[in-house]
Amino acid sequence: MNAQLNYTQDIAKATNKLFEKLSGQYKKEQWETLAPYIYEINKLKKEKNAVILAHNYMTPDVFFGVGDVVGDSLGLAQVAAKSDADIIIQCGVHFMAETSKILCPNKKVIIPDINAGCSLASSITAEGLRAMKAKYPGIPVITYVNTSANVKAESDVCCTSSNALKIVNALGKQGHDKVIMTPDKFLAQNVAAETDVDIIYWDGACEVHERFTAEEVRNIRTSNNDVIVLAHPECPPEVMAEADFAGSTAQMDDYIKEHKPKKAVLMTECSMSDNVAAANPDIEMIKTSQMCPHMKLITLPKILKALQTENPEVIIDQEISARAKIPIERMLELS
Ligand code: SF4
Repeated sequence: MNAQLNYTQDIAKATNKLFEKLSGQYKKEQWETLAPYIYEINKLKKEKNAVILAHNYMTPDVFFGVGDVVGDSLGLAQVAAKSDADIIIQCGVHFMAETSKILCPNKKVIIPDINAGCSLASSITAEGLRAMKAKYPGIPVITYVNTSANVKAESDVCCTSSNALKIVNALGKQGHDKVIMTPDKFLAQNVAAETDVDIIYWDGACEVHERFTAEEVRNIRTSNNDVIVLAHPECPPEVMAEADFAGSTAQMDDYIKEHKPKKAVLMTECSMSDNVAAANPDIEMIKTSQMCPHMKLITLPKILKALQTENPEVIIDQEISARAKIPIERMLELS
């Protein structure tokens, strides 16, 4: 459908400034194939009153080129809920698009590739969670936002990687000395190290963060004097123990902006590091190579096609959506 996109003088003029910013990421020839998509997408999204939500793990062409709102999954959906856009284009994975639909049921939510999944979200089903609840009756269930709407609908409260400890402690203060956390075992173990509340956890993991090791962090430190190591709480506890700072993608971004280290490494998905490097040219970002194959399914040509066709649309059963909204709202109250 879009085979004829050419790099014209108008497109060069409209995108030159952005290319300067991203020149560390793209060669000129590569940029000339990307810029026409950026130009067309930005034109079409205005015509259709669409808003593009771009997760921190999107590649820089998507993140800086077409993203109207950028950040972590919950932050994106919350901003979208307040916007007057008719269409949301979710540049991220499927559970994120579902969260946007749950929070914005009257907007059309489109994900450029319906197959963009997540190893955490697919590690647990509603049936599996119901079986766990039957095994531990009366224990409240805290479910990470990286799950399907069906799983959220079975949960008492959601959490993100930035507020998980706060949510666990809030339930502790309400008299719960034991909670169930799903589905990320590492997030649960990392929280367990900082709370007196007992945590029973599901055995899921992020296929990207579980690959980081403490040895890798030590090697990075050996080869890079004074590097500041920031780790995502989906990493194994041994990695967190080696880090200078632990936090969600949004918290890492805030840390970098506030502390402006000379040299830093992010133990998280590799595109985030590219985006932080482009936004902070004075900071030397040490690259890691862990890539999320699901996030990388979202490309500029697919975004343009999704905008043109308004497909694939994310639809959630209304009853499930209403039930899934309750733990999300409860999380917002508790945090
Ligand atoms: S990085 Fe991990 S948690 Fe995020 S979408 Fe990919 S597999 Fe899921």
